[in-house]
Amino acid sequence: MSQPVRSLDVPGESVLAHWENFVRTIDELAPGKKVADIWFRKLRPLSFDGQVLLALAPPTAFVDYLLNTHGDLIRQALQHSVGKGVELSIVKRDNVPEDQLPALEAEQLQLADSNVGQEPVKANLNPRYRFDNYIEGESNRFAVASARSVAETPTTTPFNPYFVYGGSGYGKTHLIQAIGNQVLRTGSLRRVVYVTSEQFVNQFIASIKTKRTTDFTHLYRNVDMLILDDIQFFTGKERTLTEFFHTFNSLYQAGKQIILSSDRPPRDLEDLDERLTSRFASGLVTELTLPDYETRVAILEKRADEHRASLDPRIVDFLATHICTNVRDLEGALLQLIAQSQFMRAPIDLDLAHQVARKFAPTRRAQVSMETIAEACSRYYNIPLLDLKDRGRKKEVAHTRQVAMYICHKLTRHSLRGIALHYGRRDHSTVIHAVKTVEDRITGDQVFRSEIDDLLRSIELHA
Ligand code: ADP
Ligand code: MG
Repeated sequence: MSQPVRSLDVPGESVLAHWENFVRTIDELAPGKKVADIWFRKLRPLSFDGQVLLALAPPTAFVDYLLNTHGDLIRQALQHSVGKGVELSIVKRDNVPEDQLPALEAEQLQLADSNVGQEPVKANLNPRYRFDNYIEGESNRFAVASARSVAETPTTTPFNPYFVYGGSGYGKTHLIQAIGNQVLRTGSLRRVVYVTSEQFVNQFIASIKTKRTTDFTHLYRNVDMLILDDIQFFTGKERTLTEFFHTFNSLYQAGKQIILSSDRPPRDLEDLDERLTSRFASGLVTELTLPDYETRVAILEKRADEHRASLDPRIVDFLATHICTNVRDLEGALLQLIAQSQFMRAPIDLDLAHQVARKFAPTRRAQVSMETIAEACSRYYNIPLLDLKDRGRKKEVAHTRQVAMYICHKLTRHSLRGIALHYGRRDHSTVIHAVKTVEDRITGDQVFRSEIDDLLRSIELHA
């Protein structure tokens, strides 16, 4: 890989940004190993043509050794930070024509100078959270479009602060980190910091203990973009709130970009100063909701792809239909499925999917009562509630009762017998039969499947 270079570009802003991002990613992928410090921080980025990132090594560097021992890490980091299929090429200084060196050095010095007095900050971003692997759908269209626009024109966008809220596992962290990753990749901002509110609180407390609050204040008031996750965590923490209030104002007045997430809208954040919440509202407040069925399918397919797992469309459909708590559960179920099938060296089939999906349902929905489920089924199929619990065997009634039993089995922790009793039966085998009948139909009957999907959703809303 140490072929002579034909022409050397002077490193522009974007090469440097790509390089910084790449090195930072190396750090993140191999934390604590100092690989980045030992090897990569000694190299200098030269050019990037969209395919090959070219870097210059000191004459004494063991380039081949580096490429051999860290080849996988390099490939992975490049893929996360710069793009798929990008390669790293390293040239040694003795292979660079003499006359090109001075210009290079001067340019690099100049670029370095522009950063004087600005010690680097650790962005703390997860390279996996990007826009290109964030699936868009009805549930998040506006939130994603506005997030992209912030990432494209940070600090000049009217969406400042950018505030996104929504339930746990709906994709807030991924989205706000995608903004940070993108501005670092394009190089439009340098000092980007992501921090969870919990970390913010802990760092603040630690700084009080060690009498270094000025350092803390200095760090957070001197960033170009502050991404603060889960700010509902500040509730009840008065001193941190005061500190955050000042940080916010100082950044806001300096025209720096502020990005916030929370599990609830600003008006529901108790304890937060009204001057703050009204400022939030002056930027952009947007909500993420539970992705709809199509988006859930797309997310599963994308994630399966990333894990190079091929999934039968029926499995994807089954998971997307039955796991509608949040995206985290959806992914969790998928990853468990993949892991189990690898472990057992067996293909992922519907049986396995059933087992895994069941594990995800009851714990999330422990608070759904059998009565809520019975009412929802009675409403949905227009069958009087009392009939459901009666011994009647009319076809529609029996059918609705089976569905209700099936959903109770899926969503609650009640025993088979407990479920049977709720529907006026003594024998748990009635429930087993109901579950099996419904599951069989779900796999074969598209219309029925979407009925169940609707029902599950309406139950979720009433839970
Ligand atoms: P939250 O912060 O709202 O609790 P996260 O951002 O941590 O949720 O999302 C949970 C998981 O789901 C993450 O692994 C994330 O990558 C994934 N995820 C959420 N929404 C999407 C989406 N629209 N497309 C792809 N992955 C998503
Ligand atoms: Mg989160």
